[in-house]
Amino acid sequence: MHKKVICKKCDAVISQCRCMAGDKKIEYDLCDKCKGENERTQCWFCGERMVWGGDHSAEDYGMPGDGIVANLSCPQCEATALFHSAG
Ligand SMILES: [Zn+2]
Ligand SMILES: [Zn+2]
Ligand SMILES: [Zn+2]
Repeated sequence: MHKKVICKKCDAVISQCRCMAGDKKIEYDLCDKCKGENERTQCWFCGERMVWGGDHSAEDYGMPGDGIVANLSCPQCEATALFHSAG
């Protein structure tokens, strides 16, 4: 598998052959991050891609348990969404 796989969206190198020979075949795919973004962050209201604002502990939001709370906001309609993991 003499090739290099690059994310077509953010140019991150997803995987590449470890040998030093040149002329690697370049293939494009989506990295895990961009794949995840596509699936996860569509605004419920307007369908725009939401922007991830950060992960916080549930405690930071005064929520019970010790899960993670991800906060996202929509650049188009300014909706916000909090995703609270159960863990
Ligand atoms: Zn190789
Ligand atoms: Zn990417
Ligand atoms: Zn929106």
